Amino acid sequence: VFNFAAGPATLPENVLLKAQSELYNWDGSGMSVMEMSHRGKEFMSIIQKAEADLRALLNIPEDYAVLFLQGGATTQFAAIPLNLCKPDDTVDYIVTGSWGDKAYKEAAKYSKPKVIWSGKAEKYTNIPAFDSLEQSPDAKYLHICANETIHGVEFKDYPNPKNPNAILVADMSSNFCSKPVDVTKFGVIYAGAQKNVGPSGVTIVIIKKDLIGNAQPITPVMLDYKIHAENNSLYNTPPCFGIYMCGLVFDDLLAQGGLVEVEKKNKKKAQILYDTIDASNGFFRCPVEKSVRSLMNVPFTLAKSELEAEFIKEAAKEKMVQLKGHRSVGGMRASIYNAMPLAGVEKLVAFMKDFQVSLEI
Ligand code: PLP
Repeated sequence: VFNFAAGPATLPENVLLKAQSELYNWDGSGMSVMEMSHRGKEFMSIIQKAEADLRALLNIPEDYAVLFLQGGATTQFAAIPLNLCKPDDTVDYIVTGSWGDKAYKEAAKYSKPKVIWSGKAEKYTNIPAFDSLEQSPDAKYLHICANETIHGVEFKDYPNPKNPNAILVADMSSNFCSKPVDVTKFGVIYAGAQKNVGPSGVTIVIIKKDLIGNAQPITPVMLDYKIHAENNSLYNTPPCFGIYMCGLVFDDLLAQGGLVEVEKKNKKKAQILYDTIDASNGFFRCPVEKSVRSLMNVPFTLAKSELEAEFIKEAAKEKMVQLKGHRSVGGMRASIYNAMPLAGVEKLVAFMKDFQVSLEI
């Protein structure tokens, strides 16, 4: 089966097989990772290797902390303002889709967020030109969602905050580790694991160390980056098995040659899918402006929308599953994260062409 789900999503087969082989007895310890103390030497070696491999993959400098947390990216929507500003501080949000909008709404409880650009009127099909952005001169940070999972728009480059004291904050949940990123451009990067790097239950935060330690007094202990950084993500019981799985994925991405190689594969997959859509004479349509189309989530519709249910049903018969678009936008969506093999996308485009031909005859 080729699984095009948006997350939780398909994981590399070799990673799943390795986890299976170690399920009962990790590295001769006689224990499953699920059974280990999070403070024992076995798990310590797992989390330390996971962090070291992630640092190698993304070239994360020493002055950034890497935290393995829980609560999903949704929890970070609150943790970001709680840790980075005071209740009366202005913070800027670029809203390019539903996730950026949710982040903004949550921030309104703990700060004074301002939407400096919204793509809502264009149904979230674009990213603004950075030069024309009117940023708040006193904003403490500028928040973006690097890849909108539902709408399929992705930043190809990143804006600089105007205020020299402000930092750039990015939700990278759905394109984390899909391509190289210059971490030093960001104050904080956060991502739920369940799309590109592991199962749900782990949320990764990469934060410049000098931003840690300024949480608002009301901040729950579980949302305070200082607590987690001081305790190396072991303040309370972490999602041990999920962290272990992320570690296996990081190891696998390094073995593939790192993110430069991974990006090449992702570009190739996305290109054949977008090319098929664009060459279909309007039979299939992707609403997203070409220059900002996501390499990860490809939303598309049929000119004859009444045939979409049939498309999804027939694709499932051919073992291509979870192609239904998000309930808020409809149509179809093919999520083609790192672990989707080229063969999966090739099979999908062949199916799309056949589907079109069968109806045009
Ligand atoms: N941000 C983005 C870009 C997402 O795609 C998602 C989930 O799909 C979230 C945030 C929310 O993540 P979680 O469900 O882990 O809280």
